Amino acid sequence: MFQNSTQRRNLQLKLVRENVKVRAGVRKAFAALRKNEHLLCKMNFACCMSCACAELSPIVDDEKKKGAVYFHRQDNAAFNETGKLSIRYFTRTDSQDCKKLGELIVQYMTENGVETKWDGNPTRTIEVGRFKND
Ligand SMILES: [Zn+2]
Repeated sequence: MFQNSTQRRNLQLKLVRENVKVRAGVRKAFAALRKNEHLLCKMNFACCMSCACAELSPIVDDEKKKGAVYFHRQDNAAFNETGKLSIRYFTRTDSQDCKKLGELIVQYMTENGVETKWDGNPTRTIEVGRFKND
């Protein structure tokens, strides 16, 4: 009993430590995307995808950004539980541009030491986190 709860506690601590690293990498990648690629980047923004899109789309249009990259509060909650974070993104233009944006996000995440999982489909989120034990 004691052993089990200690093991569980240790696993939780390990997840917390890994998440701190992943989050730091995501923060750096977002900062670089914001600075170099003229994108609107928001961490832990809005409660869900519809609210985030409704709030981000007018800003993207007004400021003539290429697009937006974000994750919302439900994504953040899932990340704290599982160590996997869904990165969401959209462009003002067509799906070809959206695919390019996805590739750009993967590139910046990789450059900042964040592992990614994405099938190249611009309608799907990009998963980041630790995948070694999957
Ligand atoms: Zn919402």
